[in-house]
Amino acid sequence: MHVHIWAEDRPLPEAEETMRKLYPNGVEGQIAAFLRENPDMTVTTSTLQDPDQGIDREILDKTDVLVYWSHKYWREVEDTNVDYLQKRVLEGMGLIVLHSAHASKIFSRLMGTRTQSLRWRENDERQRYWIVNPAHPIADGLDGEYFEIPMDETYGEYFEIPQPEEQVFITQSQGGEIFRSGCCWTRGLGRIFYFQGGHETYPVYMLREVQLILTNAVRWACRRHIPGSFPVWARQSPPVTGDPAK
Ligand code: ZN
Repeated sequence: MHVHIWAEDRPLPEAEETMRKLYPNGVEGQIAAFLRENPDMTVTTSTLQDPDQGIDREILDKTDVLVYWSHKYWREVEDTNVDYLQKRVLEGMGLIVLHSAHASKIFSRLMGTRTQSLRWRENDERQRYWIVNPAHPIADGLDGEYFEIPMDETYGEYFEIPQPEEQVFITQSQGGEIFRSGCCWTRGLGRIFYFQGGHETYPVYMLREVQLILTNAVRWACRRHIPGSFPVWARQSPPVTGDPAK
């Protein structure tokens, strides 16, 4: 299975020092490191800073699942790149949307909403993830009724998304907000999972539970689809021969 991780890799000036210390190889490097522990996963990475904004069509054409992290510079991703990512998801490429990528153009395009706005606060708060769908494959291996991220950015409702097809986690912040923090949808042949955790100044992607969830999510979203083998747009029906009612 080919997994590609894309991240912005351009922290805000006030976050740069903390983020570079926590994630010397970038958020994408940390996620790649734990996914690479799975012998059946080939993992590549790119960032917004790379040529063509890191949207390399040759790599993405063979990508089964794309993991996508962005924050402040989502507006810079060119619409032609968003068109291409959308086409790949509709063809069957899985997409894992992380944390502040809720605002990204590709997520917006796939959700049909505008900015997927939400309530937020950076306040070093504990986040309690209630497992509301313990039988879901993305929750495999999690013990108990909930787990906690000791510190992360707080997100809260209302989260401007269409109702998830499957809800796996709902988070309660230390300050009392609740948030639909683990959500699944399908679009075309592609599976999409949104996960709240992972503000760049907290060591969220080092946590065992988060690594387990993202590994499960990649497996859930993988459909091993060959690009172009199933043309999802404008398929002509074969001519009708005979009366199917007979
Ligand atoms: Zn954040």
